[in-house]
Order: sequence, then structure tokens, then C-alpha cells
Amino acid sequence: METRVTPERAVAIAHTMPLLRKTETIPLDRATGRVLSKPIPSLVDDPRFDNSAMDGFAVRKEDCEGHTILRIVGESRAGGSEPPVVGEGEACRIMTGARIPEGADAIAVVEETKEEGVNVVITGEPRPSFIRRRAENLSIGQDALPVGAVLGPSEIGLAATMGHDRIPVVTKPRIAIVSTGDELVKPGEELAPSEIYESNSYSLAAMVEEMGCTAVRHDAAPDTLDELRRVLDSLSECDAILTSGGVSMGEFDLVRRIMEEEGEPLFWKVAMRPGGPPMFGSWKGTPLFALPGNPVSSQVVFHVLVVPWIANSLQYHEALGPRMADRVRVRLLDDVRGAPGKLCLRRIRIEAGDNELTGSVHTHQGSGNAHSMVAHNGLTLLPPDTNGKAGETIDALWCR
Ligand code: AMP
Ligand code: MG
Repeated sequence: METRVTPERAVAIAHTMPLLRKTETIPLDRATGRVLSKPIPSLVDDPRFDNSAMDGFAVRKEDCEGHTILRIVGESRAGGSEPPVVGEGEACRIMTGARIPEGADAIAVVEETKEEGVNVVITGEPRPSFIRRRAENLSIGQDALPVGAVLGPSEIGLAATMGHDRIPVVTKPRIAIVSTGDELVKPGEELAPSEIYESNSYSLAAMVEEMGCTAVRHDAAPDTLDELRRVLDSLSECDAILTSGGVSMGEFDLVRRIMEEEGEPLFWKVAMRPGGPPMFGSWKGTPLFALPGNPVSSQVVFHVLVVPWIANSLQYHEALGPRMADRVRVRLLDDVRGAPGKLCLRRIRIEAGDNELTGSVHTHQGSGNAHSMVAHNGLTLLPPDTNGKAGETIDALWCR
């Protein structure tokens, strides 16, 4: 087991034990947020045929020098039958999306025409650029959606444009989530004097779902080895386990202890603040991320270590993937203290200023302060041994 690794090293180690990637084919209707498992080719040219981008008249450009009178030979409508050929001195009424009649090479927009009985007067200049050319967007067979594309509204629209009603996607991994701690009580229940509401499993489940996985959330496990072993064993049908709490040096930090004694830890402790003590390895063959118990720490570690692990395992397309945390440059409006020897992820509120993003601090930064993750929308990426001074521009993660 490696200890006190950098976040980069932690991500690299985690990549040696990826989530299992399985695939399936599903209806396009159900594909929102899913990840494409193979590139999909267009089944059609887009556009399928030369068509008009405007309502108006399809004409021969050479016929239209200045004020021109043309004879109307018919109509071309979207979805209509083969339009008539346009010969010298002729025009065909045309609607947006309708096929361009043979012979025509430009569109006079309706606003620049005047119908007079069987004729039309062209008052403006007809334009070839109002013809949308066959395959100018996509050719048949072209792969326009790459492996790892996360299927949002635009990707789903494109899949439909290309003719796919079922698409190959990565099967959602099932990720078990369990908090540990004798003090933790389900929200909604009565609290004894030394008890608190359990929150990490809920926020982690939401983050897991946002990453395109299925969260299998369990009630908190108490701080006994036997109970913890029983719970972890019961989770092995999942593709991975996330625990929270019990991973530091304390006497009741039993996740760390049971992993060391009975599991296979690959790293423990990462040079980051907050979130120093995470552990990663496997529990009897199932990958396990042991996150710290402090609510802020567990979320920050998820952003910094678990997001890349899931994204890499499922082969999210780097450029298109759901970056829960995107790297940006922000100008600090407040001083933020860094950490000796550790990457420091202070919470900041990222806002659009004049020509730049700014970062400001609005609550205290304790790692137990769950509210600070809502009052802010970003995390500083202060390199080890550096402080952030008001006015300086630094790297940050934009978390939503
Ligand atoms: P631990 O890592 O178990 O020592 O926990 C660190 C701190 O986080 C303690 O104050 C715990 O009470 C708190 N904590 C641990 N797990 C949770 C949880 N699931 N929800 C809310 N607070 C927690
Ligand atoms: Mg604990």
C-alpha cells in the first residue's frame, strides 16, 4: 500500500482497478445522461436532399437581373411529391425543408417577391446560399457521435437525426454507498443528545447518479468490526463500494482497520486538504473507495478522485463528458489560506465579473460545514505550500 500520495498518483493508482465496463442497447427515449459505448454512424445523409432554408420561390439565378417577372410552374412542399422542373423564365413556390426543383439554383425569399396571378415578381436578389446541400452536415456512414459521448439533449437529437431508435450504451454500474458511525441517524428520525443526522450517503448517492451510475444507498453501519464486515460483504454484488467515515487514525476508524486487516488497500492518505485520509483498494474483489467522514471532505474527495475514476472506467469522452468539476481560472476577491505540502481545495463562489471569473469566500471553511458546499460553487486548486492572495488569479474547479 502506498501512503501520502499526490492526488495525481491517487488517480493513477485507482485507474489500475477500474469499474467493470459492460454495455447494452437501449431505446433512445431512455438514453438521457447515458454514455455511448461505440461510435454510431449516420444511417442517412444530412440533409438527405438539396432543400430550401427559406419560404419563397426556387428560381434560376441567371434569370433574375433586377426586377424580374417569372411564371409560377408549381409548388414544392416539405414531404410533398417531386416538384416540377424549373426552366428559363420560371419559378416554383417552395417551403422551408422542401426539395429543390431540378433546374433551380437559388431561392428568392418570400418577403422579396410579389405574386401577380400566374406570375411572381422577384424584387430582391435570389440566393444560392439558401439552398441546404445534400450531406453538407453529415454523410451516410459518418461517425458523428464518438465512444464516451454523454447523451444530453443535443446528442439524443443527433442520434435521432441519424436514424437510430436504439443505441449502444455503457451499462450503469451499481455503486453501493454506506456511511459508518455510531452517531449517525437517518434524517426524519428522533435524535438522542449525541447523535446527528447522517448526510454523506445522500450527497454521495446524488453525485454517483450525476456521474451516470446507479446509487445503492444503505443505512449507516455502526462502529463495530463485525457489523462493518457483515455490511461490506453484503455489498459485494455491486460493482463498487463507497464508504464514508472511519478512515483516519482514531480508535473507531474501523474502515481503515478492516481494509488493512481483511481487504486489499492500494493507497491511503492523499496530499490534499480537505479530504486527507481517503483509502482505495478492494474488498474481496470489489473496488472500494473509503472517503473521509466530514461532509465537505467526502464531497471534495469525490470531485477530485472518484469523478476521474468513474469517467476513466466508463471511457467518458474527455472533451464532451459530464465534467462535474471543470477547471477554470478565477481572480480571487478574498485571501484564501493554502496548506503545507498539500493541494488546497478551499470553497469559493465563482461568479462572472467583467471579462473574468471571480472567486470569493462566504462561509467558514471547516470540513464539517456542509452549508459551505452550497454557499459556494467552486474549489480552489492552490498548489502545496501556496496561499491565495486577493487580486491573484488562480486555478479552480467549477463544481456546478
Ligand atoms: P470520521 O471520519 O468517522 O471520524 O468522521 C468525521 C466527522 O464527520 C465526524 O464529526 C462525524 O460525525 C462526521 N460524519 C461522519 N460520517 C458522516 C455522515 N455520513 N454524515 C454526516 N456526518 C458524518
Ligand atoms: Mg466515525
